[in-house]
Amino acid sequence: MARKWYDDDELDILINRNRDKVLDAVETYLDNATDFCRCRDCRLDLAAITLNRAPVRHFVSEYHMKYYGEEDEAPLDKRMSRLVNEAAAIVARRPHHD
Ligand SMILES: [Zn+2]
Repeated sequence: MARKWYDDDELDILINRNRDKVLDAVETYLDNATDFCRCRDCRLDLAAITLNRAPVRHFVSEYHMKYYGEEDEAPLDKRMSRLVNEAAAIVARRPHHD
């Protein structure tokens, strides 16, 4: 078998920046939504759908963000918020809970 090109601990600093953005946006949504189900299935479906719809933004550690040209976060936060709202509508229409 071919040798892997990376050591396992090296991948720890390879970060999808938007994963944290999505999880933060889901938290904000759940803090404010009054009519969304809080069961495990619905919360995780909400996160999964939002993660699948958000663009992936990989960085090698947070220190390199400037290098990759991601300084202004406000538009991104707004976009994540919109994605979570769209995902919440999908989950509410077809919830997987019993
Ligand atoms: Zn539910």
